[in-house]
Amino acid sequence: MHTYQAAENALQNKTILITGAGDGIGRVAAITFAKHGATVILLGKTTSKLECVYDEIVAAGYPEPAIVPLDMKGATKQHYRDLAATIEMQFGQLDGLLNNAAILGSLGPLEHFCVSTFENIMKVNVTAQAMITKYMFPLLRKAPNASVIFTSSGVGRVGREFWGPYAISKFATEGMMQTWAQEVGKTNIRINCINPGATRTNMRSSAFPGEDREKLKTAADIMPTYLFLMSDDSVGINGQSLDAQPK
Ligand code: NAP
Repeated sequence: MHTYQAAENALQNKTILITGAGDGIGRVAAITFAKHGATVILLGKTTSKLECVYDEIVAAGYPEPAIVPLDMKGATKQHYRDLAATIEMQFGQLDGLLNNAAILGSLGPLEHFCVSTFENIMKVNVTAQAMITKYMFPLLRKAPNASVIFTSSGVGRVGREFWGPYAISKFATEGMMQTWAQEVGKTNIRINCINPGATRTNMRSSAFPGEDREKLKTAADIMPTYLFLMSDDSVGINGQSLDAQPK
């Protein structure tokens, strides 16, 4: 997977929705998917960031993307219903969903966690991912082969001290992926997780402020696993949690 090389047109004619597409890994995934032919729907909190990604994709001559400014913390089911209706009207179906948006919150002993921070993390990292997946499901069913990717973390697989609510949210993400994957079984939809591993983004810098960023892999470095799971080369792979970086 880490050395997977996608064909130039691997995602041609696919419509892919990416959450947290304005920055970090989501931004690079959106541009990479567009480069391989996909029409990407850029969902994120900060409109100006989404507009920059939109401009970059258009300037490169890739398929024109769509922008969906949405704060997933406050989003209701009506927001997702409306989004599904708009996507259906414009594109007819959805071939891919990258559930990438997340917040880190503050790290520290669980004994001292702040209840409102805990609730915000669960809303953005878990509830919103479940809601958007649920409301996109009818559109995913319409695609010949649809891929849903949830974004996990090493701290969502084995407990690690002081990673608090964020770690708990990533355990929930792994569980959500496995449950959903079993339910879709052998249908046209496959559902998997990616653990990006340490990647040079703002979130990583918040968690490790003293670290030398230059030593970290970039988001571009980890794209082969994202491309593999989004392309039809991964048809038949379901319920897996893949590492985007070699151990
Ligand atoms: P990032 O640089 O902080 O980017 C997060 C993205 O999510 C941003 O585009 C942000 O939008 C968006 N977002 C945050 N809250 C949102 C909300 N309420 N509504 C809509 N969008 C929201 O993080 P990243 O490092 O790229 O992380 C991407 C994913 O990888 C996350 O799921 C993270 O947990 C996971 N991960 C990252 C690493 C790593 O080392 N970087 C390691 C393991 C797992 P704004 O910029 O507009 O706020």
